[in-house]
Amino acid sequence: MSLAIIGMPGDRPLAPRVTRFTAQFWDALAEGRFLVTRCKACHQKSFPPQAHCKSCLGCDIDWIELGGRGRLYSATRVHAGPARFAAALPYSVGIVDLDDGVRLATRLLGNAGPEHLDQPVQLVVTRYQDGPLFAAELVAPDASIP
Ligand SMILES: [Zn+2]
Repeated sequence: MSLAIIGMPGDRPLAPRVTRFTAQFWDALAEGRFLVTRCKACHQKSFPPQAHCKSCLGCDIDWIELGGRGRLYSATRVHAGPARFAAALPYSVGIVDLDDGVRLATRLLGNAGPEHLDQPVQLVVTRYQDGPLFAAELVAPDASIP
């Protein structure tokens, strides 16, 4: 399943440090696919991607693609932030529980904020000039899965 890709102006405010290991995640994200790692022994999923399982410490890892649908677990609106994020102020960030069993922190697009806790969200790719990031946006509760 491909995530929607939303064009964003300029470069990423804070570009990720890409390693040989995490390049697989960033390359897939640029194509609209959201990957996490999964332990082949105990099936624990990890995000950010991990070369070793944080549950059983195994090192036999798979990459799997998630659908990106979930619910907003926590959110806050940022009104005063670091200088590199000044152009985006105010913006929201939150914690999302994906339906696939992964909890992650992410930027929230649109008007998503603390008043939308437990509402359905969908991960999207935000495509900047220098590369991709991801974010979550609210979806209507009855919206069909793309
Ligand atoms: Zn494991």
